[in-house]
Amino acid sequence: MSTLELLQALRAMPVLADLSAGTLTRADLDALGYRDAGAWVTLAEVYHGPTRSWKLQAAARDVGAGLSLDALMVVEKHTRKLLSGAAVTEWELRVELCGLTGTVEEIDRAAAARVREYNRDVADAERKARSRRALKGGKNTDALGLRTFTVTGPEREIEGLLRHVRAGAKSLRLKDPTLSYEQAMYDSFLASRGGGGGPVAPIPYVVIPLPEWAKVLRHEGDETVFGLTDGTTMTGKELVEQVTADHHVAGIYDPVAGPVNAYRSERTASPKQRMMLVTESLTCEAMCSTPADQSEIHHITAWKKGGETNVQAMTVLCRLHNGRNDDDPSQPPRHGRVEREPGGVVFHPPDGSPPRQNPHPIRALSARGLVTG
Ligand SMILES: [Zn+2]
Repeated sequence: MSTLELLQALRAMPVLADLSAGTLTRADLDALGYRDAGAWVTLAEVYHGPTRSWKLQAAARDVGAGLSLDALMVVEKHTRKLLSGAAVTEWELRVELCGLTGTVEEIDRAAAARVREYNRDVADAERKARSRRALKGGKNTDALGLRTFTVTGPEREIEGLLRHVRAGAKSLRLKDPTLSYEQAMYDSFLASRGGGGGPVAPIPYVVIPLPEWAKVLRHEGDETVFGLTDGTTMTGKELVEQVTADHHVAGIYDPVAGPVNAYRSERTASPKQRMMLVTESLTCEAMCSTPADQSEIHHITAWKKGGETNVQAMTVLCRLHNGRNDDDPSQPPRHGRVEREPGGVVFHPPDGSPPRQNPHPIRALSARGLVTG
């Protein structure tokens, strides 16, 4: 069989049928190096799983027999954007979109336009669409030390924001013609702090061991990297520039003196306790990359079970993992739990495998030892 014939045979529907029948598994696809294996498994559940619309499900499989897996993923992406109350059901829409032909890009554009038409006629469409607003990403650093996030919102709100950013970018480029459009947009966006207004972000702490701070002040530690509680890093040179430019960072270079334990007198961690805990961890402790500044303070022994509001009895978990933590160790594990051990906080996976510390690279820069001594 030639490669072309092999690729022609690799249509979405037979692959999904095999996944559903179990003659092909997620593990097989992972071993073969298919990045979208997880999405294909989800598609197999949609196109072969139980549904009351089984007639339309069968019709979609027939109509979409010629589609590639990439094209079917595009169909599914747009189907999920159909608002409740539209003139068609999800399954009627799938049958319609599975009938589209052309390149994946052409199917993408046609499907988007079709679903947009249906959604326009939905009562209260704007409010329903706005509930899907989101800002995602921004947690992973690439090989250049850069991060990317995406913002999704109603077109008028996004346009209102970008109009403001574009006006700023235009004047920046008049002053400096060497700036590219994208660079000027970024500079303008940053200067507007995301459009201005809104709540002020918490001030991140920089974790600086005392000997390093002395070196930085003598300009000998320009290349030393420090971790911040908002999940970013900064060199000694950048640190000095920031400190002298404005007050967006606060250095910690000495263990905090004075009593910090509240025992049972307070349920909520004090600002001093919070500061010690976020600098100890820098990220959520549950194998996760959410920065400590965006996380919650967690009582390792639940407050209602007598847990104390002492730094040694608390740690940092993001909202998701704080909600999911198995607070009662006598119950069968479901999502895992955090514990404090002599070397720091560890995560006990729900499968009973050995406890682990979060391997996130920034945590090497944390203030471990500040809490335990
Ligand atoms: Zn987390």
